[in-house]
Amino acid sequence: MAKYTGPACKLCRREGEKLFLKGERCFSPKCAFERREYAPGQHGRSGRRGGRGTGRESDYGKQLRAKQRARRVYGVFERQFRRYYSKAIKARGVTGLMLLQILESRLDNIVYRLGYAASRAQARLMVTHGHFTVNGRRTDVPSMTLRVGDVVAVRSGSNDRPFFKELPDLAEARNIPAWLERDVKQLTGSILRMPERAEIDGSLNEQLIVEYYSR
Ligand code: SF4
Repeated sequence: MAKYTGPACKLCRREGEKLFLKGERCFSPKCAFERREYAPGQHGRSGRRGGRGTGRESDYGKQLRAKQRARRVYGVFERQFRRYYSKAIKARGVTGLMLLQILESRLDNIVYRLGYAASRAQARLMVTHGHFTVNGRRTDVPSMTLRVGDVVAVRSGSNDRPFFKELPDLAEARNIPAWLERDVKQLTGSILRMPERAEIDGSLNEQLIVEYYSR
């Protein structure tokens, strides 16, 4: 399974905003974006070429940025993202919202939203290591798309590990969205319904993403 292995903070600096890819660190003074709020690379400060912030951005530029931003927030590669878009077109409903719902339905995102991981990247790692089950069956596929009614749980063999023993207390401190339900004591969670637009990251611009792929 392919995954981005480069520096996560570089992605925030490229996008010009915090994408919160590193859990607790994102809220601390160690956050690279707080310390170097300019694009990475030789021209990052000047705003030329790879830099940001100079001149007027073209419509294409805005669409591209919106698409890249969403890809980076959810940790999805281009090919898979395009596949999600094709699926969204075929689904009944508004394409942009369908796309966001598909992204939100990924197992790694659900684990993160349930508060069982500090970031989607951590959730992905935990799933890859086989610590979760879906409807009672062990899985190591973070991109698995879940449906309404699916139940996610920490695998019984993983419960004994120190990290998972402390997890109920850590998870308790995190709020979960209304479209999910969880039992922190049992380290389980389920999908009650698909999220509405207002319940998904408001900084994502699905309209621009649709425009990007409709060109
Ligand atoms: Fe982005 Fe988090 Fe890195 Fe800050 S610490 S730059 S928010 S990934």
